[in-house]
Amino acid sequence: MLGRAVFLAALVAASIAGAASPALAASDFPPGYEAYHTHDELTAELRAIAAAHPDIAALSVVGRSYQGRPIWVLKISDNVAADEPEPEVLVDGLIHGREHLSVEQSLAAIRWLVDRYGVSERRTALVDGLEIWVMPEINPDGGQFDISDGRFQHWRKNRQINGSGESVGTDVNRNFGYQWGCCGGSSPKPSSSTYRGASPFSAPEAQVVRDFVLSRRIDGEQQLGIAVSFHSYGEQILFPYAYTTEDVPPDMVRLDRRVMTRMAREMGARNGYTPMQSSDLYIASGTFDDWAYGDQGILTFTIELAPRTLLDGGFYLSADRIGQETRRNRAAILWLLEQAGDPAGVLGPDALLSPAADRTERSRPARR
Ligand SMILES: [Zn+2]
Repeated sequence: MLGRAVFLAALVAASIAGAASPALAASDFPPGYEAYHTHDELTAELRAIAAAHPDIAALSVVGRSYQGRPIWVLKISDNVAADEPEPEVLVDGLIHGREHLSVEQSLAAIRWLVDRYGVSERRTALVDGLEIWVMPEINPDGGQFDISDGRFQHWRKNRQINGSGESVGTDVNRNFGYQWGCCGGSSPKPSSSTYRGASPFSAPEAQVVRDFVLSRRIDGEQQLGIAVSFHSYGEQILFPYAYTTEDVPPDMVRLDRRVMTRMAREMGARNGYTPMQSSDLYIASGTFDDWAYGDQGILTFTIELAPRTLLDGGFYLSADRIGQETRRNRAAILWLLEQAGDPAGVLGPDALLSPAADRTERSRPARR
């Protein structure tokens, strides 16, 4: 218990330190896209939400980007200052700089929970029963660089200087230390947009996310049961693994595969997105999802937001569609949160009667 108190105190201290923003000027979005949140606007919005809902929302800095910007996490729960024995969920966005709708989707998810607390029975139950951590902007440097100079830069990576400085940026979502650099799913070339970094967790942003997730491991037990990462674009719901096309490799528990498949289908039935194993879209290695599942046993989903195609806007969805496209995921995300207390329950009573094989083979995935 002391460990948790110290951790929370550190978060509070860090959040005060976060008040001093680095002197890195934030441009606004290019004309027509101003409704999207810049880093500073996101910071102001998160502070306002925490101030308006102090009993159920607490804002902290979990770490800093390569260029020194704060990476925020908002915890949503009743008795938010206490670490209660409740199922935990991580929701995150903008691990890739140009995927701006993921910030808006994270903010929308926060709003669904805090704005109707005490009004909607369903949402009140979620806030009371869970500890939900929302990290809307893992890669603030990439996001800000993408909107620099009044036009979009089509920038995916962070802004870390590599080697002699000729190439900038590591793909944070290829830098996690699980099957890092394997299987052609990332690039060893610093100039590539999927550069995996010099070594696993060489990107500060990946370290911050890793350390946060590991901090939720208490008395040997990972508290986070589910993690949802918002990306864009494509309207897909992806689940592990990304590094292999095998459905159930030796480092996956068969029951987990069944649960994630069912959850992805159920979400897809609610938002019209296409559920699939991540590697069915393309092979990738060193991803957050593969690490969080493979190393920590967390059920992970990557949700590729709207639009479906490049012609329909690609990474730069028209700002007047933010509202409708983020609302479109409400039923799917609220449903997922409702399963956090009993993920295997999604398989229904039949699964609980018969899965002797699943039960005996169930174990935590192999640790690296
Ligand atoms: Zn992405």
